[in-house]
Order: sequence, then C-alpha cells, then structure tokens
Amino acid sequence: MACSMSITAVARSVQAAPRPVARAGALPALQWLLKPIGRGPTLQQPKQLQRRAAATPRHRRPVRAVAAPLASEVAQSGDYKVELQAAVDAVRLASRLCQAVQMQLKHGEKTDKEDDSPVTVADYGAQALVAWSLRRAFPGQPLSLVAEEDAVDLREPSGAAMLDRITSLVNEALAIEHPQVARLSSAEVADLVDVGCSEGGGVGRHWVLDPIDGTRGFVGQRQYAVCLGLLQDGQVALGVLGCPNLPQYAITDADCDEGQAARSFSEESVGTIFAASKGQGAYAGPVFGGMPTQRIHCDDSLPPFQVRYMESFEKRHSNHGLALQIGAEIGVELPSLKLDSQAKYGALSRGDASIFMRFPDAAYREKIWDHCAGVAIIEEAGAVITDALGNPLDFSQGRFFPYLNGGIVAATPSMHRAIMAAIRKIRELEPKEE
Ligand code: AMP
Ligand code: MG
Repeated sequence: MACSMSITAVARSVQAAPRPVARAGALPALQWLLKPIGRGPTLQQPKQLQRRAAATPRHRRPVRAVAAPLASEVAQSGDYKVELQAAVDAVRLASRLCQAVQMQLKHGEKTDKEDDSPVTVADYGAQALVAWSLRRAFPGQPLSLVAEEDAVDLREPSGAAMLDRITSLVNEALAIEHPQVARLSSAEVADLVDVGCSEGGGVGRHWVLDPIDGTRGFVGQRQYAVCLGLLQDGQVALGVLGCPNLPQYAITDADCDEGQAARSFSEESVGTIFAASKGQGAYAGPVFGGMPTQRIHCDDSLPPFQVRYMESFEKRHSNHGLALQIGAEIGVELPSLKLDSQAKYGALSRGDASIFMRFPDAAYREKIWDHCAGVAIIEEAGAVITDALGNPLDFSQGRFFPYLNGGIVAATPSMHRAIMAAIRKIRELEPKEE
C-alpha cells in the first residue's frame, strides 16, 4: 500500500477538529431458528417498514446521558481503575493508526497487492500498539492477550514488505501519542503482534482484543471498532470500544452508510470511545479526548413501535429475515439500523437503539474478541445479553465460544424479555425435527 498521507498529517487534520449447556431438546445452533420463515402477518412487514423509514425524520435524539457531577472520578475509581485507564490509552493509540489508514483509503490510495493490504496492515499495527501499550502500563507483569492476529506470515520473507509498512505506521502513531519513546524495529513489532497468541481460559487474567472489528466496514468507509476487554477468571471485568467513525450523538441510518467515514473524518462530533468496568458504570467520550466521562445508560423507556433494532451491515453475518420476524412479533415497526462491528454495543449502551440481534449460520463459530469489550459496556449500561435461548455467554473456554444456541441477543431488559418470549413462541410453531 502506498502511503501518501502520514499518520501525523492525519492526526493534525483531525485534531484541528477536536459452554453454556444447550437446553434439553434444543437443536445444535438452533437450526430451526435459522430456517427461512414463510408464514404469518410478519411477512407483510418489509414494505410497510420501508415506507415508515422514508417518513421518519432524521433520528437526532440526544445521547441519553445522566448528569453525574463526579462522573470522571467515578469512571476512574473502583477495582479496575488502572486497567481501565491502560485499556483506554491502548485503544486510543490503536484507533489513531486505524483512522490514518482508513483516511488513506479515503484519499484514493489503491492496494498494490492482492492481499487486502490496508485493512491487514491496520489490523496488525493496531494489535502491536495495544500489546505495546499494555506492556508499558504493566511492566514486568505477565501479559496474556487473546487476539485475532499472529505474526507467522509477517516473519516469512514474503511478509517483509508488509512488516516494514506496519512498522512505519506503528512508529508514526507512537510519535504522536508518545513522542519520547524510541522507535520500534520490525522485529520488535512482529514480537508485539505475537503477544496476542494467548489461548485465554477460565483462570486468571486475560486481555481480549479485536484490533479491527468490522473489517468490511473499515474497507467500505463505514463503521469499525478497536475492541479491548479484560477477563478475570472467565468473567468480563472491563471493556473499551474505540469507534473513530461513530458520532458522539445518537446515530442515524446515514451514519451507517457506505462512505460515511469519508464524509465525516474532520467533524469534531465524530469519533467515540466507550469504557466500562465491573460495577463502575459505562462511559462515553470523544475517541481522541481524555478518559470518557459521560455516564451512559441504555434506554428502556420506549414502547416497541418506537424502538430501533440493530443488526450486521453484512447480510452474510446474520439472518436479517429472522431478526425482522422476531422484531415484528414483539411489535417493532421501525426498520433495523445496519451497522458494522461492536459499535452496535456502544450504540445500544447510550440509547441510540434498544436491540441488537445476531443470527449467524449454524456452522459459524463465534470468537470471544468479537463480543468481550462490548459485553462489558452494555452490561454496565443496564442492557442484557444472552444467546438466542437466554443462556449467558461463556468467555471461559478459550478463543471461541464453546456453544451458542442460534445466535446472540443484546437488548434493554424489557426488550430482551420480549424477544426471548417471541423466540420461544416461534420455536413452538416450528415443525419439530426428529
Ligand atoms: P458485524 O460487523 O457485526 O457483522 O461483525 C463483524 C464480525 O463478524 C467480524 O469480526 C468477524 O469475526 C465476524 N464474521 C466473519 N464472518 C462471519 C460469518 N460468516 N458469520 C458471522 N460472523 C462473521
Ligand atoms: Mg471482529
């Protein structure tokens, strides 16, 4: 990838603008749930929904924030104060690199290889920066990081050019956020990437990282997120989501569109970070500010006909027809917000939408880094997350979830109850497979 715009230049331009066990009788992965559904009044919904969407004014509800005079103190107190600060610093540093690479894409840079270079380079670079940041925050301590990438390919002769590009980007990001530190060598960067090879598990402390969640959104100039969580003995202890393209106000359909990032890079109000630690609440703030200080809550006050639900932008990641049917069953009338990445968890946590449904193909295995940070945020914001049968997500079994019944549902408490009831009802109506 040719890099005509350095991270420094980008930063300047942006700164100018400030195994749960399956219930008896449940089919593996709820295959019944994933079948196309072809009956009942719900099938009439799509056209109605389209018309309503067209008639709905731009959704600019203010962020549901509770005024908390001591919010910053609260955000920084509690059992995981040091870890939360370290996680915010790490995510911000990685977000800097990701934003610069996405802006290069915006400026018309073409990939010069068949290897999806920009997103691959940014993925590796972000992972190296998070590992560097955590090492620096906790010197001399063992560091277990469960992350998506490893440096095997980068260490091959064929990976040398890419490793050089990653190293340049990493050093540029460090020069902005930590100008006093020495430049890293390619070998050091490869070693940092490999820090992320932990298998995790249910004992002790494990950081969990998705360096770029929503890579298709990243390439499509849509939403993506840098996602860092911490597990303590298999339980989610904290999470930080860096969402450089997510507005600081409640999102609209336009904020989810192709090309959205290219339109809003320089807007002061775009770019949000979410942070939460166990028992200390969830907070939001500008992605390149200090610790986030705005206390956020999910919004459980809306009747079903006024709620928005969210799902993957990518059809292949989730069964949109099923989500539509479940939504209609509980009285949802507005169309879904289609949004890439764990930015959906942030949006749910501040009341932009009330529901997130994810129904992948039965064969798809969910990875813990695709949910860990987001779960920390939404639970502290008062929302509920389970698999499609209401079982809690189990982060204690390594890099993958051991078993998920049909998918994942995250929602405000009342909407979650309604969805679970709707799923039970739909399931009872389905013909039983012998
Ligand atoms: P989202 O942006 O919510 O659609 O989720 C993005 C995540 O979906 C990525 O980080 C991938 O790990 C994951 N993913 C990739 N392929 C699939 C698939 N076929 N079905 C479901 N999820 C997938
Ligand atoms: Mg991901």
